[in-house]
Amino acid sequence: AERNNAVTHRLTVIGTGYLGATHAACMADLGFEVLGLDVDAARIARLAGGDLPFYEPGLPELLRKGLASGRLRFTTSYAEAAEFGDVHFVCVGTPQKAGEYAADMSYVDAAIDALAPLLARPALVVGKSTVPVGTAERLAARLARLAPAGDGAVLAWNPEFLREGFACHDTLHPDRIVVGLPGDAAAAAGAEAALREVYAPMLAGGTPFITADYPTSELVKVSANAFLATKISFINAMAEVCEAAHADVTKLSEALSHDDRIGGKFLGPGLGFGGGCLPKDIRAFMARAGELGADQALTFLREVDEINIRRRIRMVDIARTLLGGSFIGRTVGVLGAAFKPESDDVRDSPALDVAATIHAQGGKVTVYDPQAMANARRAQPSLSFGESALDAARGAHVVLLLTEWAEFREMAPGGLAAAVAERNIVDGRNALDPEVWRAAGWTYRALGRP
Ligand code: NAD
Repeated sequence: AERNNAVTHRLTVIGTGYLGATHAACMADLGFEVLGLDVDAARIARLAGGDLPFYEPGLPELLRKGLASGRLRFTTSYAEAAEFGDVHFVCVGTPQKAGEYAADMSYVDAAIDALAPLLARPALVVGKSTVPVGTAERLAARLARLAPAGDGAVLAWNPEFLREGFACHDTLHPDRIVVGLPGDAAAAAGAEAALREVYAPMLAGGTPFITADYPTSELVKVSANAFLATKISFINAMAEVCEAAHADVTKLSEALSHDDRIGGKFLGPGLGFGGGCLPKDIRAFMARAGELGADQALTFLREVDEINIRRRIRMVDIARTLLGGSFIGRTVGVLGAAFKPESDDVRDSPALDVAATIHAQGGKVTVYDPQAMANARRAQPSLSFGESALDAARGAHVVLLLTEWAEFREMAPGGLAAAVAERNIVDGRNALDPEVWRAAGWTYRALGRP
């Protein structure tokens, strides 16, 4: 109840990766005083120096603006964060556990365990990480047990829907704000009031604000990702059928997209989804449903995952067939390493997966990506890397387009032709115009097209 009248101006953001660094800089941009915290001291040093440790369009500018204003600061000290914040956003990672489908909750638990005992005054802790349903209830109990102020520490769940590559826009202009609130009415009212204050600029702009109980709010996030993954795998399943029927999935997709009930977004056929979210989120969702005795409800997600992985295998098969059945002694130019354009994220990247598989099958693979080179080198140190698209294609018997960066989409077949050994291209993202490439003397292959 005290919180109803409190002015909520001091925010902490715990975990400053893709989600947390974006959230921190955007909240500072809205006028709040923000303290970002991470256990990674090198990351914090870079952020404090105005050097964003990953690629995200528009974020370096917001980071530097926040630092210059004095409203955005960074620390590795939980004591400082606990003392500073009225509202603490938890944005730490929830990766897939090694060898299991379930999410690794150790980072979220560690963040609560570190913060809670230091909360010497009433505070609102807001989870933003993507978590298995039931986590908020569990963490609320943990918080109540560990926080000295007892019921002064309240937990809310506020899942995040931002897209890498559009993270600042999505944070400042979300489609909706979802807030999971505790069962206790007074605590819920205080938490809702505080979050309405934090998100006031968005609410003034008409953003829907949906309050729910904890489990519903957690499920909104994972069900949204399950739907999006399903939509991508749906069109990729149609691509498999098109391949068998000698039909063109790009035409099929275009025609489907004009149906308002279907819509064209996430309906692009190609190499499928990857990244730090969709794959691990649908797997964690299946694992959690199993724990809850509802595994039958999500068996279709296993198909969604398998359709997605089959596209990578198909991509390798098309390239190998073009080379007469073997990669041994052959040079392969790979364009793209990030899991999608406008990102440097290579977590579960379809492009790197394909590159690594071809390397393992004896191909001499050279990869180029406009932003993800450092991450790609770290993830796949045995691959070779080029300085440019042209460099990666030098001497290639086949070129593979695996991430649809604009610079690859806009590539002219003539320029590349001078570099390659043979004019073979496989378009893993249906990003090129086949007629243009064929007219320039290339053998063009793509997923889901004759
Ligand atoms: P990330 O790996 O980029 O960042 C996680 C950060 O948390 C790292 O900097 C790490 O050092 C830090 N951390 C780990 N343990 C900590 C602790 N105990 N205390 C403080 N910091 C700690 O991950 P991300 O992509 O930002 O994802 C974070 C969460 O947000 C995940 O649950 C993810 O599913 C979710 N999410 C991500 C996106 C996205 O597009 N990346 C979108 C929506 C939701």
